[in-house]
Amino acid sequence: MDAAVECTHCKVVMTSWSAPASQIRYFQCPFCARTHSSLYGEVFRRRAGARVIDAPARASAPAEIPMASAEDIRWARVKATAAQWFARVEADERACAPRAAPVTRVPARPAPAAPAAARARMAVAAGTKRKP
Ligand SMILES: [Zn+2]
Repeated sequence: MDAAVECTHCKVVMTSWSAPASQIRYFQCPFCARTHSSLYGEVFRRRAGARVIDAPARASAPAEIPMASAEDIRWARVKATAAQWFARVEADERACAPRAAPVTRVPARPAPAAPAAARARMAVAAGTKRKP
């Protein structure tokens, strides 16, 4: 949704933002701090607090208008961080996919299997000795 959204209570264009690579857009009134999400389109269709107007969306709020609340900004940052994290995980998976053994990233541990196997062989040898 690229159209601007107006707060029907304050009659002002709401500021909007969205997380990177996200289809969901958030709108907040700079005056009454009501927040809406493009996920819930019926809010805009029913004009229950917000309505879509013809003016182009404001890319970022001018400095003289109060910005979204600290909580909303924090939440947007959390979402952005999560998006970056998922993108990094996805990139890692792509980078490792052609490799036969993606475990090469894990530092090789000193193989405890060899002494254990040796002990097992000794135990088997000891057991066979005790057999009549
Ligand atoms: Zn408002």
